[in-house]
Amino acid sequence: MAEIRILIIDDETVIREGVQRALSGRGYQFSKAENGEMGIDMIRKEGYDIVLLDLMMPGIDGFAVLDWIKEHRPSIEVIVITGFATVSKAVTAMKQGAFDFVGKPFTPDYIRIVVSRAAEKIKLEAEAKQLREEHTLSLAAIQNEQSRLKTVFGCMVEAVVITDHQSVVVHHNPAAIKILEIQTDPVIGKPLADSILDETAVKMVDQAIKHSKVVTKEFPPGTISRKYLRAHCAPVTAESGKVIGSVTAFEDISTHKQIDQMKSDFVAMVAHELKSPLASVEQMIYALQIGCEHEAGQACSTMHKRITVRTRDLLRMIDNLLNLSKMENGTVEFNLEPIKGHEILDHILDIITEQAESKKITINYTPTEIDWWFNVDYDHIRTAFMNIISNAVKYTPDGGTVDITTSVSGGFANLSVVDSGIGISKEDLPHIFDRFFRVKGKATRHITGSGLGLSLVKEVVEAHQGYIDVHSELGKGTTFTLSFPVTQPATEHAEVAEAE
Ligand code: ADP
Repeated sequence: MAEIRILIIDDETVIREGVQRALSGRGYQFSKAENGEMGIDMIRKEGYDIVLLDLMMPGIDGFAVLDWIKEHRPSIEVIVITGFATVSKAVTAMKQGAFDFVGKPFTPDYIRIVVSRAAEKIKLEAEAKQLREEHTLSLAAIQNEQSRLKTVFGCMVEAVVITDHQSVVVHHNPAAIKILEIQTDPVIGKPLADSILDETAVKMVDQAIKHSKVVTKEFPPGTISRKYLRAHCAPVTAESGKVIGSVTAFEDISTHKQIDQMKSDFVAMVAHELKSPLASVEQMIYALQIGCEHEAGQACSTMHKRITVRTRDLLRMIDNLLNLSKMENGTVEFNLEPIKGHEILDHILDIITEQAESKKITINYTPTEIDWWFNVDYDHIRTAFMNIISNAVKYTPDGGTVDITTSVSGGFANLSVVDSGIGISKEDLPHIFDRFFRVKGKATRHITGSGLGLSLVKEVVEAHQGYIDVHSELGKGTTFTLSFPVTQPATEHAEVAEAE
């Protein structure tokens, strides 16, 4: 603390000097005033720690000065100086707030003791004030830290449950209620087993506490909640090393699991779909190699056709796969150019006829009377049309029909493919455009496919601002209609074509 500053207010010079002499050399700083007005004036301008105040002065007396000090500078300690006969006045001054009094005549030692007590009090008060300030600051820091932690805890997407050493819940975040689908209210203060009905989960926490070790477990849907959860349970230990509770974080991994499942389905599908056509292609090549010289030409040509169909199936699947992954990455390029509708279809029909013939399926193609053009990416649109038409053949039993019609109306060119095939149930219909979705059942068991064709069709059609319409009746057949904006009036193109 800085030096104690003392003001001596007394009308008698002898007293003023005497007091200063008695106290000098003790690290105090002195100022002197010879009357009350001067004293008040000096206090107003300067800050003092201790005022030694004569009670009996001409003009403003000591009591008035004391009143003023207690009202305007209450932290100043006032020691009154009073004559023998006026002890009662000294007592009155003490009641008014003076720290102590010194009677005249005083010994230097006595005044030193009184002043040093006042100085000590001032010092202690200053220290206490500083401690109070520090305490308030650290409390504010703790509160700040606590509110920060509370915010983080509250915003966490993972469910966090904290228990004591007896597995009684002492804290949890809001996500816990949602992710763990807890119905108990309140959760806090109750055994964990009351809120989480899955025994394995409760045992996991008990184990972490009992053996003081981190336990990680996965909980499939239907155990703790409808979600797939991964739990990470850690014991909480005190400084002594004793386990005092546990903290468990539950993470919703349903999406990861779905992706994992899709990946394994995909690998299984690719392995199966590549294996079976490749095996038959291999057999046919072998048969061709060995038997061609001895067999009639017809057999060779049938083999050749089958090899071609199987190889095209494979290539289409690989094309679908590559295109879909490109669309997912956003790296696919659409090179739009005006294409004549019939051109694409003629090309597809050439290919599909071979596939249809092997199943004795009749394909009827009714094109529009006028030519129509649309601004599309030739390869992508051809793949989309091919997927729809080859599905119609694939999912139509032997001897059935596939009717293909094109029409132009309302600024849209429409391709309708109507088959007399196995149809799709109402339950399956909403899913047929999902990646890897395949209808499972007796009718489709022996039909190969990847479940990627229609999702690719959808992506391609939407990328060309078109839309798809599907109607299906189980056991009767399915109609797919793909519609695309006709970018230029058909007549204009017809004229251009004629002029050329
Ligand atoms: P896939 O390679 O299995 O044919 P798609 O994505 O092309 O895959 O079709 C998804 C599913 O929709 C098929 O597995 C099939 O069950 C059903 N489907 C598609 N087209 C037809 C159709 N014309 N008739 C009956 N079912 C069909």
